[in-house]
Amino acid sequence: DTAAAPDLLLGRIRDIPDFPRPGVLFKDITPLLNDPAALAAAVAGLAAPFRGAGVDHVVGLEARGFIFGAPVALELGAGFVPARKAGKLPASVIGQPYDLEYGTATVEIHADAVSPGSRVLIVDDVLATGGTGRAAVDLVRKAGGTVVGFSVLMELTALPGREKLSDVEPHALLAV
Ligand code: AMP
Repeated sequence: DTAAAPDLLLGRIRDIPDFPRPGVLFKDITPLLNDPAALAAAVAGLAAPFRGAGVDHVVGLEARGFIFGAPVALELGAGFVPARKAGKLPASVIGQPYDLEYGTATVEIHADAVSPGSRVLIVDDVLATGGTGRAAVDLVRKAGGTVVGFSVLMELTALPGREKLSDVEPHALLAV
């Protein structure tokens, strides 16, 4: 019953003020992960719009995108690809730098993970500024993949993430 899902999910996301630094309202998904019905609803909801979309790979963004990405990949009959911060993956990588509030960061995938022409769904927990998501989309395209979607549990509508990913039209189960 998907109509019950928003309340089920929203009630299990905990707001933690000033974490990891002052001024950030952190969306803690661990209560949701620890509830079997909410976890199942989240995974099903993230995957649902992309059934029949011919997804070959699900790219999960470190770290909480790994938790949802792997079961979404299983639901879609796709492979799972971890996208990690620079220096974490052991084999040959391709990377995409992006701007942070202070400085820059780089997101990487293994160079052989996404084959040219393959269809990719990107998964994460929270869409905030969209910086990470933008870099992930550009990285998948750099690898020759086609981005068929960007699926997140929650988007923070006060921030410009959706605009930054307008070419992908992110799918969010919750908008707060
Ligand atoms: P952004 O690049 O600003 O869209 O941030 C996205 C990444 O940062 C995601 O991987 C989220 O897990 C994390 N993130 C950003 N803001 C929050 C927040 N308020 N609560 C929890 N996670 C967040």
